[in-house]
Amino acid sequence: MGSSLTVSRYSVILLGAIGVGKGTQAKKLVEALKIPHISTGDILRAEVIAASELGLMAKAVMDRGELVSDDLLIDIVRARLDKQDCARGAIFDGFPRTIPQADALESLLNEQDLPQPVVVSIDVPDDQIIARLMSRRVCATCGATFNLDLDQAAITSHKCPDGKAPNIILREDDKPETVQKRLEVYREKTAPLLDYYRKKRSLKNISGIGATQEVFARVLLALDSGLE
Ligand code: AMP
Repeated sequence: MGSSLTVSRYSVILLGAIGVGKGTQAKKLVEALKIPHISTGDILRAEVIAASELGLMAKAVMDRGELVSDDLLIDIVRARLDKQDCARGAIFDGFPRTIPQADALESLLNEQDLPQPVVVSIDVPDDQIIARLMSRRVCATCGATFNLDLDQAAITSHKCPDGKAPNIILREDDKPETVQKRLEVYREKTAPLLDYYRKKRSLKNISGIGATQEVFARVLLALDSGLE
């Protein structure tokens, strides 16, 4: 790991279409940078599991592969960033997804006295994304994620943290028709963020093809050249 990764505060955005491995890379970055992972998809799914008012409202939108409203997402991230564990920054995964969310994040980071983000875009061709999502499985009880081809043993032996019964499923929004919709939504609403961050000179593009560890080495290299 290079010297600039020893800076004390970071904001990192992992950008990229659905299924490119943002969540997997974010979890590895948590260990490397010792700052929390903020996945707005995970936060929303936890609300769905808890059957909260927010969860019930978000579920229908998520199941259709559409985006939940900017205002709601910005409130969620504001509240999350306010927590003590984000004092040194955070790794954002699935947020921002629109230009208004990116503008809001800039203000939220300023309010928290955190640096503006380094943005790592993980690029994977659509046909590979679709293949990966078809083999993604999640536990509907606790939210753990698996790959059907690589994690058979872990799926069979999976136990939820609170002792509840596991329920390994294909995510409703990973079904083929919804995946197409989510890719369209990405291209229309989220891909413009690439230009947005390129103009701010904070964008690093890396390939998401290859083993997790290979991609992680690229993420670290990109961060090393992007963090001051
Ligand atoms: P993800 O796990 O990041 O693919 O998110 C799953 C779903 O949650 C998305 O398809 C959206 O419906 C919703 N969602 C997650 N993050 C956001 C966001 N930043 N803005 C709007 N909707 C979001």
